[in-house]
Amino acid sequence: MPEHAIIIGAGVMGCAVAHRLLEAGWRVTLLERSLPGAESSAAAAGILGAQSEVSEDGPFLELCLASRERYRQFARELEEATDISVGYEASGVLEVALNPAEGRLAAGRAEWMLARGLRVELLDREEARRLEPALTTAMVGANFYPEDHQVDPVALSRAQASLVARLGGKFLSGSHVQGVAVVADRVEGVRLGGATLGADVVVVAGGAWSTLLDGLPPLRTWVKPMSGQILQWITRPPLFRHVVYGYKGYVVPRADGRVLLGSTLEDRGFDKAVTAAGLNRIVGMGLELVPALGEARWDQAWAGLRPSTGDGRPILGRGPLAGLFFATGHFRNGILLAPITGEIIRDLVTGRDPGLDLTPFAP
Ligand SMILES: Cc1cc2nc3c(=O)[nH]c(=O)nc-3n(C[C@H](O)[C@H](O)[C@H](O)COP(=O)(O)OP(=O)(O)OC[C@H]3O[C@@H](n4cnc5c(N)ncnc54)[C@H](O)[C@@H]3O)c2cc1C
Repeated sequence: MPEHAIIIGAGVMGCAVAHRLLEAGWRVTLLERSLPGAESSAAAAGILGAQSEVSEDGPFLELCLASRERYRQFARELEEATDISVGYEASGVLEVALNPAEGRLAAGRAEWMLARGLRVELLDREEARRLEPALTTAMVGANFYPEDHQVDPVALSRAQASLVARLGGKFLSGSHVQGVAVVADRVEGVRLGGATLGADVVVVAGGAWSTLLDGLPPLRTWVKPMSGQILQWITRPPLFRHVVYGYKGYVVPRADGRVLLGSTLEDRGFDKAVTAAGLNRIVGMGLELVPALGEARWDQAWAGLRPSTGDGRPILGRGPLAGLFFATGHFRNGILLAPITGEIIRDLVTGRDPGLDLTPFAP
């Protein structure tokens, strides 16, 4: 009988880990209290922002770059196996500076990225508008990150769940795990409905709820929810094609004319409210960056809970108890970090070397 892994949570992280463990010959059960991909993973904008999202050189940047490098292949693998398009678009991200102070920030960011050997194009206003004519004339310039791409997270989550099921993964949707079952210094399964469900390893991938589980040992940091609201409009035909990143938010055009505008960053517990003030801020930000969006049609709005940690780093790797692993706390970058996270946890569980220094992310 192959070894058995239980994964708590079937968002992008749980499914990415399941996918790789199934390929490695493990038996996998995913326990999900709702539906696969129902929470933060379905709420995300899908920017693969290894450069646009990261503010300094270091281990977190390395992790993001390693995952970004894998994305095209990861998307292709999912699409070939499931026939579901995950909306991978090599759109590039334009980080727009609206005033001289933002221009100085952008120049400083470009400087360290170029020193690190990353691709950045520093564009003045005319060059930026030649690349993306829909951009506001009221800007001083933009950094262009041609290697930051995008996916559609809802489609990605569906494709992941479909692939995991095809590989033989067992989903128990509607299963709320109460905690991990610990015997001596080893995790032997999870507590579910008053009984223990046994496994050789347990992977915690419960997003913003990850550290509410009973029986967890003390960790480096805890996970807490940070809400983000997103607004979706429709433009037909599409008005622009690059992801536009400002210092107050971003605007993401999909190839089919949908445009996502985001996002807020709110500490409001597990409340996923869409608020008047939040939407007002997002609309103002979006129209400032791309004024032509004033003619876009309203479609829908939603909010999701990012799994944030006290120190801004994910919780990734082998836990302080034997048999316990963590794939959580990816905050604003979980869509980007799904491919590398799946591989890292597979390698640790199966005794291989993941080839990356995981010390900064240790549980
Ligand atoms: C508004 C917004 C915009 C974002 N934009 C981007 C972006 O552009 N790019 C990017 O890379 N990232 C983005 N993110 C971040 C990204 O969405 C998250 O980092 C990522 O989805 C986290 O995935 P996860 O699988 O850890 O969590 P989730 O998707 O939240 O999945 C966790 C799952 O665990 C389940 N669960 C929890 N506890 C239990 C339990 N006890 N028993 C059973 N099941 C349980 C939940 O029901 C849930 O389905 C954004 C997030 C938000 C909210």
